[in-house]
Amino acid sequence: MRNLNAAALAIVLVLPGTDALAASWKECNDVPVRPESIPMHFAVNGCSLGNQATPAGRAAINGIFELMNYAPLGQWGGTTATSECQIEHGDERSDVAIVDPAFIDGNPGKTITFTDGCTFDWEEEHIEESDSMASVRLDYNEPDEAFVAGMVGAPGLGRIVLLHELGHAVGLEHTARFAVMRDGLGRRVPFIGGSDPNAGHVKFTGDDVLGLRNLHGVPGDYTNMFVTAQFLDAGANLIRDTSVNPATNLDLPQLTLCPGQSLSFFVTVGNLSGFSRSATVRTYADTLGSCTQLDGVGTELARVTANVNRMNAFTFPQTVTIPPGVPRDVTLRAYTALVTTPPGERRAYDDCARSAVTFVVQNAGVCGF
Ligand SMILES: [Zn+2]
Repeated sequence: MRNLNAAALAIVLVLPGTDALAASWKECNDVPVRPESIPMHFAVNGCSLGNQATPAGRAAINGIFELMNYAPLGQWGGTTATSECQIEHGDERSDVAIVDPAFIDGNPGKTITFTDGCTFDWEEEHIEESDSMASVRLDYNEPDEAFVAGMVGAPGLGRIVLLHELGHAVGLEHTARFAVMRDGLGRRVPFIGGSDPNAGHVKFTGDDVLGLRNLHGVPGDYTNMFVTAQFLDAGANLIRDTSVNPATNLDLPQLTLCPGQSLSFFVTVGNLSGFSRSATVRTYADTLGSCTQLDGVGTELARVTANVNRMNAFTFPQTVTIPPGVPRDVTLRAYTALVTTPPGERRAYDDCARSAVTFVVQNAGVCGF
């Protein structure tokens, strides 16, 4: 019999801190600065975004609809003529456009906002116009949620840049939390999980929803929990995925394991609701590509209950022991799924996340059983 205590610990655990700054917005005389009339109407630039079948067109639809999902702050205000290949700042019309990076100081995205000012102590300040722009050099396809976008050319970065800029357009400022509105894209922005590889990984998180609700000012609830394989490494102030050892910043090799050995990785469960919520979190091993919130799929590795505070995200390390019944000599991934969720749960498709870490459990000839 082999010594099963010689465990292969995959990832050094770095527990995220809780002192990061939360969702924020500007205020004038203690009142949030938000669009003058809500929902704010966005003119979608026909030249760069008019074809909604293109990845960029889909990104614009996704972003604008997200401004309506949690509080009615922004909505589609029509598409301009396809011949209109420039936008004007200061014309009291809010535009969304894809532009050459030269027009946005070489940045991935930029939002120019006009307000009516905060001069007197009885005044409220309003956003009168916001023009959100993202670089034409970015990839606007749906990202692979297992991997963080770390470079300008990364798959899906354009989609989340556009969502981030639209958050600014309605009044959100930067945050240091697990959120789309993170302080600069160099800090990286999280994708959420999903059973559909083509939809739904670029959505606002709980911290963003906290900001949107405060801008709107009327309490409301959006009952949705989600799971993601990404997490906030607070020490480095980076969003990470499970492909990297956060202690060394190096890519993890594909792990070779035997039954009885352990595997550790991070899981994040998010809550968009205005109330604390809990869910049963099931972790399982399966071959590449599949991901489902249905119970009983693959080889179960762990089952825990996660309680997540309102409009928040909770990251915890999962250390699982490889069971003898797992498929051998095939590449496996760890999947995490919410198999029970609170009543009224929306968006079941984001209740499953595929981690980036891969492993192979060797056959009985090598492992001894
Ligand atoms: Zn920003």
